[in-house]
Amino acid sequence: MPIATVNPATGELVEEFPSLTKEQVDQRLTRAEAAAASLRATDFDTRARWMRAAANLVEAEAASTARMLTTEMGKPIAQARTEVLKCAHAMRFYADNAETLLADQPLADPSAVNASAAYTSYEPLGVVLAVMPWNYPMWQVIRFAAPALMAGNVGLLKHASNVPQSALYLDTLFERAGFPAGSFQSLLIGATDVEAVLRDRRVAAVTLTGSEPAGRSIAAVAGSEVKKVVLELGGSDPFVVLPSADVRAAARTAVTARTINNGQSCIAAKRFIVHAEVYEEFVEAFVAGTKALTIGDPLDEATEIGPIATESGWRELGELVDDAVAKGAVLRCGGSAVGTEGWFFEPAVLEEVTTEMRVYREEAFGPLAVVHRVDDIEQAAALANDTPFGLSSSVWTTDPVEERFLITRLQAGAVFVNGMSVSYPELPFGGVKDSGIGRELAAEGIREFCNLKTIWKS
Ligand code: NAP
Repeated sequence: MPIATVNPATGELVEEFPSLTKEQVDQRLTRAEAAAASLRATDFDTRARWMRAAANLVEAEAASTARMLTTEMGKPIAQARTEVLKCAHAMRFYADNAETLLADQPLADPSAVNASAAYTSYEPLGVVLAVMPWNYPMWQVIRFAAPALMAGNVGLLKHASNVPQSALYLDTLFERAGFPAGSFQSLLIGATDVEAVLRDRRVAAVTLTGSEPAGRSIAAVAGSEVKKVVLELGGSDPFVVLPSADVRAAARTAVTARTINNGQSCIAAKRFIVHAEVYEEFVEAFVAGTKALTIGDPLDEATEIGPIATESGWRELGELVDDAVAKGAVLRCGGSAVGTEGWFFEPAVLEEVTTEMRVYREEAFGPLAVVHRVDDIEQAAALANDTPFGLSSSVWTTDPVEERFLITRLQAGAVFVNGMSVSYPELPFGGVKDSGIGRELAAEGIREFCNLKTIWKS
């Protein structure tokens, strides 16, 4: 796959970038190792000052950065701006809270371990490799980088090959804000070059956000090197609607939850599991809301649905629809290409999906919804869990007993009650099953790439 910006709204090649040579990668690793030594010696206040300066830069440059994101991967421009500003918020969150989140933790009763004092302390691991996807080209990186740098770690970014301009923007951002040279660098390399970097002795750990096959491959290499790994992989999140819910509100939110970011979000609701009593009401409103979305040029402020980011992703969506319809699914709306240029796909809703259809089990990474009818809450939970993934989930009910039942029963990293799944710097984010290992954000995220050192004093 060439390292290039290809505008998904037109299919045109905007700019291609050469891959780094082995020597250039080696130089960057050397610089990262040196930066790890100097960053480790800085205090929280200094790093927080640099992090706030980086947040200021991100805010000041938001308009041009948003245009770059939209040109590289096609998200509507208003959503690109939201993404950029969310990054500044996360940077400030970690600037403000890292010291508290990583404070030493004393043992209340040291005599229990025959000590005069005992405590734990969080120390940086060193150079962390981050392999990142294109769907939120800025947010996915910042949610790793802000806590990593605040903990005193150094980042090496291997970004997706279709967002090189985003990668290059991030390459200079932290150094411009005052961080030591080499604290955060991008490696313009292909996926096949990642293994050698991860095996390099100067790299201490790795995080990957992306597809399940990529995650398995990275985890295998990290395992063989005994290096810490965090994986944020795919999702096929359930959105459960029960009769006690505000069905109109659920349907309205369902449209956004499925189609935000042109439907290319790991925590997008992908499977809508609706009780028979409110099924028709929900589906009518959901289909009407989906049909009403404005599809078009993602740089136009009025656009709600832009193109799919890659030609292969666009083809894949069409194939999932064709496979389901050929096997008897009912296509309630959309499912076709739009226009003659670029990779536009009309948001689709499928009913009567059965287990032999690919879309039952595979992650639909685009605006393609599957709606299932269930007769009771037990069936809803069983269907929600009948997936290899376990990232997030959304449940709609006003009954506290139903709410508790679903919270405890769903196999997922998060449950959002009467709302759609969203990531916040203040809340841990991650999944179970094939959705990954470990957590990002909040206290858990900043602690993932730390050595939790135990100190015992006689
Ligand atoms: P992808 O193909 O796995 O690519 C993600 C990153 O991994 C890219 O930088 C890619 O590089 C690299 N890569 C791919 N195969 C690799 C390998 N064998 N070894 C090392 N690196 C490898 O994923 P995608 O299609 O870009 O992104 C969509 C997927 O990401 C979806 O499944 C989505 O759910 C998931 N995702 C998960 C989260 C989460 O937080 N859980 C967030 C966002 C997205 P190249 O671009 O050079 O191939």
